[in-house]
Amino acid sequence: MISSKNRVKGSKAHYIVFFIIFLCGIAASFAIYLEECRHAYNNQKASGAYFTEKLNDGLTQYITQLSSVVALIESSEGGVSSSHFSRFARSLSTTPKVGFYFAQYVPAGKKYEYEMQQSVLLGNINFTIYPEGERKEYMPLALGYPDKFIYGYDMLYPQYRDINAVIQARNASVIMLSEPTLPPFSDAVSNSIADTFVLRAPIYLPVDVRYYKLTDSIGFHGMVGAYFSVGSLLNQVTPLAGHDLYYRLADISSNNPIWFVDSSAASSWDDGEFDTHYLSVAGRKWRIDTRYLTGISSRINWLLVIIPLLIFGLLALILAFYTRKLFLTYYSALESVNKRIEIDELTGLLSRYQIQRELDKLIVTCQKNNTQLAALILDLDHFKTINDAFGHEVGDKLISKVSKRLTSVLPKNAIVGYLGGDAFLVLLVHNDDQDMPQLNSLAKEVIRKISQSYFVDGLTLDIGCSIGVALYPEFGLDGVTLIKNADMAVYQAKTSGRATYHFYDGEMGRRFARNVRIETRLRQALQKESLELHFQPKVDLITERCVGMEALLRWNDEELGVVSPAEFVPIAEQTGIILPLGDWVFEQAFRHILEWQEQGITVPPIAVNCSAAQLKRIDFLPKLLALLSKYKIDPSLLEIEVTESILIEDAERCAELLRQISHLGMKLAIDDFGTGYSSLSYLKDLPFHYVKIDQVFIRNIIEDKKHAALTHAIISLSHDLGLKVIAEGIANIDQLNMLKEFGCDIGQGYLFSKALGANTMGSDPMIVALNKQDSLD
Ligand code: C2E
Ligand code: MG
Ligand code: MG
Repeated sequence: MISSKNRVKGSKAHYIVFFIIFLCGIAASFAIYLEECRHAYNNQKASGAYFTEKLNDGLTQYITQLSSVVALIESSEGGVSSSHFSRFARSLSTTPKVGFYFAQYVPAGKKYEYEMQQSVLLGNINFTIYPEGERKEYMPLALGYPDKFIYGYDMLYPQYRDINAVIQARNASVIMLSEPTLPPFSDAVSNSIADTFVLRAPIYLPVDVRYYKLTDSIGFHGMVGAYFSVGSLLNQVTPLAGHDLYYRLADISSNNPIWFVDSSAASSWDDGEFDTHYLSVAGRKWRIDTRYLTGISSRINWLLVIIPLLIFGLLALILAFYTRKLFLTYYSALESVNKRIEIDELTGLLSRYQIQRELDKLIVTCQKNNTQLAALILDLDHFKTINDAFGHEVGDKLISKVSKRLTSVLPKNAIVGYLGGDAFLVLLVHNDDQDMPQLNSLAKEVIRKISQSYFVDGLTLDIGCSIGVALYPEFGLDGVTLIKNADMAVYQAKTSGRATYHFYDGEMGRRFARNVRIETRLRQALQKESLELHFQPKVDLITERCVGMEALLRWNDEELGVVSPAEFVPIAEQTGIILPLGDWVFEQAFRHILEWQEQGITVPPIAVNCSAAQLKRIDFLPKLLALLSKYKIDPSLLEIEVTESILIEDAERCAELLRQISHLGMKLAIDDFGTGYSSLSYLKDLPFHYVKIDQVFIRNIIEDKKHAALTHAIISLSHDLGLKVIAEGIANIDQLNMLKEFGCDIGQGYLFSKALGANTMGSDPMIVALNKQDSLD
């Protein structure tokens, strides 16, 4: 059965399903987001590297162009004209923003000569080296492109702005890049932005050409410069690489970096989310920082990130919906199953399971309130017969009608349940002992009402019922014990004739326990063959001769001691042990007869008691015949004693069997006559030879005139029907005399002899007498 706690858990299951699947979606989206970020960062890094590479390419291109100009100067013998230089430089420079110049080294002694030469070459008669003044050496600007220089300006003029860089470049034998500076030869004021770079290449001539060209002592012929603004360099690069990047550039050749470009005026570089690259060119080191124009988040393909979330979200919704639907179906199915567990379908009463639960609950309340509780088990009598005769469908309908009638008879506070089969359990709480008579009358009323006829499928059915009652707390403190005891009580009611009720008492329990013990021990006794047959003589009351013997079971158990057949035979009958036990008795009786015959003893007819269950067996007669042929014994040596009960249960079949046995030559006796229904018609119709009057009548025959009268009547009647009468249990001479007076034929009892063991036969005076008599005859 489902607890409400489990139900609540189940009702939340769809939330859990939704949450788990949605969480998976979040995880998947997050993984994709991370991957996208990583991808964007890598791309940003790659773009920065590409940007740096392009910068490097731009600078290298400038250096190459500068080298071409150097080669031009080196190879010109008579000097390069201004127009030639311009044409050459223009052809090199794809971007007009690069400028070239050549400054010629002029030692002091050649100044005048050089000025003259340049005036001719440049077509400018006013060419002079300036600023004026006598200096040791000069390096006037000789050629330039684009043509907007002041030719003749001495670059070795000590006050020249870039004199240090020029000297440094002269001393180095390689091309040197300047730090960011102002455009050369410009009139720019000192607070102008230093956004120009100059590549300077010193020209050293080989020894063989120095003689006709102006050089210093080590062959320094002058200097070629290429200058360009940062803007023009970046223009060359950014269309290719930098359009979606922010960048800033610094010259880090010295200890203090000189930042000369920052494309992100507004954005801050402080968050550290940028890439740094380094570039070394012509003696200088640049640092290049790059980052995407837009943040990394704008580089992420958000659709890719969101799609798993959407898919999982949708999946979560669908699955949550189905989970909820599944649980609802599951719970409704479970509820209907539970209902079936609680309520019995056939009767509409509480099921066996539920009534037991109710009983447990009631016990707890009774315990608290200090009240009594009665558990009544109602069991229909011979319901199986109706089931067998009319089928289970009719049986079921009858049970349903019985249950309805039962609930109508019972008081409102009674709880009724169906235990299955043909049994019901009724629970009644009653407050004190005064309720007891009420319980008695209720039980009677229930039996009366239930036993009234039913109409089922056009049939009129009659059925009785027996009731067993167990009271709480006297006879059971828990449900199981109460039901067990009520069961025992109903059993008792059944054995005492059915259609009655019985209250459980302690004695019943003890008796039941002993019966169970007897049952188990009896089974073992039968296997170990620890039973015995004793024989009680029957005496002809006129001749006082032994005319027969009754075989009686004797059992001396190791644990239980001597147990009377009056006690264990009924148990054997109820448990079915009587069948193997009966077989054993017959076999023993035959065996003994054979043994006695072999010992030369004249054996009188031996009467064997036979229970109803034995006679009901189809193989009873075949077995008997088999024994007769096995032991080769005259059937007339055997008598069979049966009680009336068998005749009531199955009169017709039994009559046929008894006739067959009689035809074999065996005598039949009706045992314990007078105690049961004692229908005299049996005596008339059935092939009985003897009537055995029950010892109850004989016991009181002297004291009780009614018993005497009954005994007398039975004897006369039996004689009239041609039957002989045996009186059981004759214990004294007065009884014997009275029976003789009544004309009784045969007697049996302790007055003559108790039942004797099989091996005492030869020494028993009655048998000995019988044998003597036989020999005289
Ligand atoms: P039953 O067939 O009526 O047997 C007679 C019973 O009366 C025997 O009791 C016998 O010992 C007892 N009896 C005989 N004379 C006297 C007497 O003078 N005074 C008293 N008080 N009792 C006397 P037992 O042997 O205890 O057997 C009881 C019953 O058990 C038998 O009653 C019979 O119904 C049944 N029984 C015994 N042996 C068998 C058997 O082998 N098969 C079956 N089916 N039932 C048996
Ligand atoms: Mg008997
Ligand atoms: Mg008897």
